[in-house]
Amino acid sequence: MTRVYIGLGSNIEEPLAQITQALAELAQLPDTQWLAQSRLYRSKAIGPVQPDYINAVALLDTRLTPLALLDALQALEQHHRRVRLEHWGPRTLDLDILLFGDQVIASERLTVPHPFLTQRSFVLYPLADISPALVLPDGTSLQQHLNACAPEGLQVLGD
Ligand code: AMP
Repeated sequence: MTRVYIGLGSNIEEPLAQITQALAELAQLPDTQWLAQSRLYRSKAIGPVQPDYINAVALLDTRLTPLALLDALQALEQHHRRVRLEHWGPRTLDLDILLFGDQVIASERLTVPHPFLTQRSFVLYPLADISPALVLPDGTSLQQHLNACAPEGLQVLGD
C-alpha cells in the first residue's frame, strides 16, 4: 500500500457539494483505503476573474499504480462534468495527485510531487491539517514551505 495525498478544488456548480461528494467518491476507489481528510477551505482564485474555490486534501492508502490512480481521478472529474474550456479557468472538480508515497515521477501524464504543491497555500494548509510533520521526497519539510507561504485569501470553512 502507498500513502497518497489528493488535492481537491471546485469553484462552480455548488463547489461545496462537489467537494463533499468527491471526498465520498475517493473513499470508494478500488484497492484503496480512506485514511483522513483536511478541513474544507475557501480560497481566492488564481488566473482569470472567477468565483472563489473550495479546497480540501484527502489522504488515502492505495494499491493502484500512479497512472491507474490518475485514470480513476480523471474518470471522477468527468463524472462531475468538469469544464475544460479555459486554462486555469473555472472548474466543477479538479483532482490532483499531490504526493504518491515518496515517489518522484516525471512522465508525460504525471508530475509528482505536484509542481505547485510547495507554492499554493490552498494545498499546504490542508496538508498540514492531516500531516503537520510531513517531509517531502526532496527532504524539505512541509513546515518550511508553510513558513514561506502566507495563508492570504485562504479561509477555513466554518470559522
Ligand atoms: P489540469 O487541467 O491543471 O488539472 O491538468 C490536467 C493534466 O495534468 C492531466 O492531463 C494530467 O495528466 C496532468 N498531470 C500531471 N501531473 C499531475 C498530477 N500530479 N496530478 C494530476 N494531474 C497531473
